[in-house]
Amino acid sequence: MTVSRGDARLLLGGPIAAEIRQAVAEDVEACRSRTGRAPGLAVVIVGRDAPSMVYLRQILKSCEKVGIDGRLVEIAGEATERAVVEAIAELNADRTVSGIIVQMPLPASIRLRSVIDAIDPAKDIDGIHPLNAGLLRLGYDGFLPATAHAAVEILRRSGIEIEGRRAVVIGRSAVVGMPAAFLLVRENATVTVCHSRTRDLKHHVKDAEILVVAAGHPGLITGSMLRRGAVVVDVGINVVDGALVGDVDFDSARHVASAITPVPGGVGPLTNALLLAHLARAAQAQAAAMAAPGAASRRPPASTTAPASRPSTRGA
Ligand code: NAP
Repeated sequence: MTVSRGDARLLLGGPIAAEIRQAVAEDVEACRSRTGRAPGLAVVIVGRDAPSMVYLRQILKSCEKVGIDGRLVEIAGEATERAVVEAIAELNADRTVSGIIVQMPLPASIRLRSVIDAIDPAKDIDGIHPLNAGLLRLGYDGFLPATAHAAVEILRRSGIEIEGRRAVVIGRSAVVGMPAAFLLVRENATVTVCHSRTRDLKHHVKDAEILVVAAGHPGLITGSMLRRGAVVVDVGINVVDGALVGDVDFDSARHVASAITPVPGGVGPLTNALLLAHLARAAQAQAAAMAAPGAASRRPPASTTAPASRPSTRGA
């Protein structure tokens, strides 16, 4: 759903997220009837980080609203890498846990790769495991990183034409920039990925019909840098003088863009809802695998491998 503010159409994540949550609540209920229990989400945090705790409690609250059994798994900040990996292995083996997310960043003593590799790809609902990253790259249906998924889904669900258009993604991280770029390619956009070493960022930005910004730098993009009529998706979340702002200077950009996501209220709410949708999908896949003949002795399979020419419209 969109409303007008200034010159640009405002692309709001909230109404789309509400639709997705409604579908998730139905899927969760269907899963509960089938298996006798609610799908479970384990949210792992290593060490107590106040802003992360606020974010994680928000996720758990949204779980509650759609009937998902969310639980916080707190691991002491001094824990060894082995202890963290073992805790994840326990969650992998726990049939009441359908999906696992691990809050980043981890303490410096713990290698990110060890933790990512430890997550069962079938429970990796934020798409960080190399198997899911590879499935995305190959155009197969795995679990997508929720933020990148949200950045593209907000365009699709707002009826923005993507096919054939020049899209520029600023940021090349494994969890946001690169998966967003791959998703845009799947949607048949012509995609350029920019990063901190890009020469003449302004030139690329001016060329963009669709601009996705995920750099973590408030005010990186201003209205004068944009092509008139560009569609702007601002993924950035920054706190400036106590206020939440994106990477795009909204006040100048909205006079030049044809559509823009606000921060807050754009990509953020959709990210949260899509995470729940991924969880519901994981629970359904695991329930189906357990119901298959001879399943009792097998573990649920990794993400499905059916070819997909585009991301699922169900948001999962
Ligand atoms: P990240 O890992 O720090 O990656 C930032 C990327 O931006 C890097 O690829 C970096 O280039 C590039 N970059 C940084 N400064 C740049 C500049 N001046 N010009 C061009 N490129 C630049 O961050 P992330 O995890 O991808 O997150 C990106 C943003 O999204 C952050 O603001 C984060 O808070 C936000 N976020 C939002 C949500 C949501 O739900 N909306 C969820 C997660 C994250 P190099 O690769 O060369 O270093």
